[in-house]
Amino acid sequence: MDWLEEILIECPQCGESFAIQIETAEEGTVGMIEDCAVCCRPAAVSITVKEGEVTCVTVEAS
Ligand SMILES: [Zn+2]
Repeated sequence: MDWLEEILIECPQCGESFAIQIETAEEGTVGMIEDCAVCCRPAAVSITVKEGEVTCVTVEAS
């Protein structure tokens, strides 16, 4: 079983979408800082995982 899921998030700074990889083995909410692939500015990403699936993603300017 593959516990990595790729999701698209929208950069709060430039509005472009880019993909990040999420580990879905553990349930709960994790926060991380991801640098936008387009403008390189940081975004605070919060991801909720339930039963091996990403159920909620929020992105805020960091
Ligand atoms: Zn960006």
